[in-house]
Amino acid sequence: MRKFLKRLLFLDLIEGLVVTFRSQHPKHIYTEQYPAQSPKVAERYRGAPRLNINPENGETLCIACNLCALACPEALIVVGSERNEQTRRKELTTFTYDTSRCMFCGLCEDACPVDALELTQDFELATYTREGQIWDRQMLEEGPRPKQYKF
Ligand code: SF4
Ligand code: SF4
Repeated sequence: MRKFLKRLLFLDLIEGLVVTFRSQHPKHIYTEQYPAQSPKVAERYRGAPRLNINPENGETLCIACNLCALACPEALIVVGSERNEQTRRKELTTFTYDTSRCMFCGLCEDACPVDALELTQDFELATYTREGQIWDRQMLEEGPRPKQYKF
């Protein structure tokens, strides 16, 4: 009889709902509220590439040695350079990096002898087009500008 009444009054269902609603208090929510709150990434996380510039004179640190391009197993880095006839040094002209094919292994970063190329902790790399994933020198020097959301 008791079992029948329990079924008739949906007591099991109500008990279950009580448990559910009790756990829905905001203090029990563990989901990261991205993009309102930025997640903490691991210290050694490798994300968006950056081509560093000298903060004192604004010139690129890259010496156009092409070692990063040679180290990349995906061959996705293209370094353009020309020789300065006065200094006899190679100077960087263009630099492209196809982030859509990158596996963020860090081999290019390790190969760079002057720490010009760096994989930063920026992780917001999504774009609406495939072409947008190919970063040029300006983009690599300035870094990504992810959309800022207002709440
Ligand atoms: S992180 Fe790896 S895959 Fe990406 S560009 Fe560097 S070497 Fe290539
Ligand atoms: S290895 Fe470093 S210095 Fe050489 S081309 Fe790549 S980013 Fe420039």
